[in-house]
Amino acid sequence: MSLSNTNSKVLDEIETGAHQANQAFVVVDSFIAAILICILMPLFVLNTLVSILRFQPIFSLTSRCDCLGRVYDCHRFTCGWFRNTALLFDIIRAKIAWYGLPSANPNSERMNNNSEELAGYKLGVVSYVELTSASGLVIDEGDSPNADLHAKSLPNYISLLSRALLAKVLYQSSRCSLAQPEQFSLFGFKINNCTMTQAIDWVTERNFTNSCKTACFVNVNSVNQSTSNSDLVNNIKRADYRFADGSGMRVAAKHCGFRIVENVNGTDMLPILCKRLEKSGQSIFLYGAASGVAQRAAHALTVDFPKLTIAGTHHGFVASSDMQSLLNKINESGADILLVALGSPYQEAWLENYAPHVKCKTALAVGGLFDFFAGEYSRAPLWLRQLGMEWVWRLIQDPKTKFKRYVIGNPVFLFRTFFTNKARRGI
Ligand code: UDP
Repeated sequence: MSLSNTNSKVLDEIETGAHQANQAFVVVDSFIAAILICILMPLFVLNTLVSILRFQPIFSLTSRCDCLGRVYDCHRFTCGWFRNTALLFDIIRAKIAWYGLPSANPNSERMNNNSEELAGYKLGVVSYVELTSASGLVIDEGDSPNADLHAKSLPNYISLLSRALLAKVLYQSSRCSLAQPEQFSLFGFKINNCTMTQAIDWVTERNFTNSCKTACFVNVNSVNQSTSNSDLVNNIKRADYRFADGSGMRVAAKHCGFRIVENVNGTDMLPILCKRLEKSGQSIFLYGAASGVAQRAAHALTVDFPKLTIAGTHHGFVASSDMQSLLNKINESGADILLVALGSPYQEAWLENYAPHVKCKTALAVGGLFDFFAGEYSRAPLWLRQLGMEWVWRLIQDPKTKFKRYVIGNPVFLFRTFFTNKARRGI
């Protein structure tokens, strides 16, 4: 058989596979829509009656546009409650999908590059873009966001759909639009609500005073610890910047009426920061974690970012009597950025006590970051991170030390958020 014949056979098989998968998606979409229509039938009857009594048509058509610019005429109840539920009829008629293309929005530009590939998809009630923006995840260029959209199998479709719906329910507010101020107060801490790019701009910018600026990542663990540790409260408050780290903070912020722009956490920040430092020629010092871990993390970083200058490394178990020699080592290295990976509450205390003696531009308290980059622990898969559930992965890898933090700490945090006024406490 000739090569061109083989190729066309393979292409045919791929197309047939994609077609069958699309048919299967439609069946699943219609099935879910039909169940929901049955459940919501009393509401639909009520909306119909209200329309008849008001001499109005039962449905009206609204135009929606997908990220490729194609327009869809979608149904809406003219009168009554939850009028957009009429979309279920459009799903059952296979006009739109449960999971598909995002509606036209600023984030869709990236997808337009692949418009030919995406043309086979319809507008979705939820989409990949909504999934990622709902959880605030900042994806490094290495993780292709479009890759998941090309999944052709039914299990993958169901998995994408359930994740996107869950993220929408957990992190997006349907009742009111959330405020997105540059700063807001959460659990008594002033949160700098910025994008990852803005955070990195701040970390790498020139200091106008000679002092080293400091920042920490406030997460569920540090909030929980701060309830019984007033020193930690003061140390977090005295840092120059505080980034909201993780899904717990996002849920608490949503409860208080705020949207966290992006999930600015140390693990997602480091590769993006390293890329920036490669370009600017600034150097970094890694301080923290068990003996050898910072060195291994540094090695891994230089493999990924060959032009990155690592000014030095040091383990995180330093007696106070040896602290001066560590400070000398950091200062003599000429590092611009210092990462302090001692975990809470030690790293915040270290910044408070020793950052004034450090000649770097910026010092960041980054938790167990080096353990990931040194390969001691693996990072959660992208889909778990998209759901803001990286903690589940960390719990599985290290159940002994993380049990109290997550299995007890997370429900306690949610209780504080929803059943006390602590989340709304001012600065
Ligand atoms: N650690 C350290 N010195 C200490 C205590 C802890 O260097 O005195 C390190 C520890 O080895 C680990 C990190 O600090 O690498 C804390 O990790 P954890 O997972 O608790 O931090 P998180 O990211 O959850 O804040």
